[in-house]
Amino acid sequence: MLSFRFTRCGSIPFKKTLMALDFRVAIDQKPGFSSSHGGSSGNLSRIRCSCAAFSSSSSRSQSFPLSGLEDVLIGYLFGKKKATEVAHMVWEQVVQKGDTVVDATCGNGYDTLAMLKMVMDESGGGHVYAMDIQDNALESTSSLLDQNVGPKEKEHIKFFNICHSKMDEIIPENSHVRLVAFNLGYLPGGNKSIITVSDTTLSALKAAERILLPGGLISLVVYIGHPGGREELEAVEAFASGLQVRDWVCCKFQMLNRPLAPVLVFIFKREM
Ligand code: SAM
Repeated sequence: MLSFRFTRCGSIPFKKTLMALDFRVAIDQKPGFSSSHGGSSGNLSRIRCSCAAFSSSSSRSQSFPLSGLEDVLIGYLFGKKKATEVAHMVWEQVVQKGDTVVDATCGNGYDTLAMLKMVMDESGGGHVYAMDIQDNALESTSSLLDQNVGPKEKEHIKFFNICHSKMDEIIPENSHVRLVAFNLGYLPGGNKSIITVSDTTLSALKAAERILLPGGLISLVVYIGHPGGREELEAVEAFASGLQVRDWVCCKFQMLNRPLAPVLVFIFKREM
């Protein structure tokens, strides 16, 4: 039996930007219904999650269901979509053309490229601040961009070899930062001992909290399969849990029967 329960909640004051969806799904799985993640005994498998979905003012439709996002969320729940795909689709609901956004861990550049496509506008507006502590990550990001966009478009990206805890030192004060995204852990294909760590991740989250516009989003994909990953998730959760309900909406997506699967955390700054 497959049962869905969708509950809309109207408790958040969305002036024009935000649609909240209290999204709970229970999947009762009969023997023979195959799971793409394996590990199903054929008896009962359950996924539960809560999330908030955001629809931003000028560029997004106010209608429900949110096109695209709903497909990706359902795909994620059925093991067909990755955490990073959910993250990108949530960004799409918030980010607008002309925005400034931050890729706090640019790595191989996939997130930077996705952000660039969201912010670039025809009048030369829209900027991505891409940072990493490894030169080879910045080179890898640069080369991915060379393969996918022209030199003019690449000019919308500013690269920094710095720790993300220093992001507020490089982003001009009057920037309208709508998104700060973290994809934590190590560089895929790189040195696995160079990883994000709780202390600097926490400092970076505090910096992101300071520079983010109302109506903006801090997005994290947290990997917990490597040493230190779980502690880092705990630090992220403690940070998000401590934010004022009046000003912030914080939630996470976590697979219950895949204990090492990446965890998604979204920290949304309400509009005043
Ligand atoms: N977003 C990337 C992409 O789309 O390919 C993947 C990022 S990868 C999982 C994590 C990256 O974080 C690594 O490249 C690593 O060098 C970087 N990193 C580790 N500690 C950092 C820090 N303190 N500040 C900025 N980047 C850091």
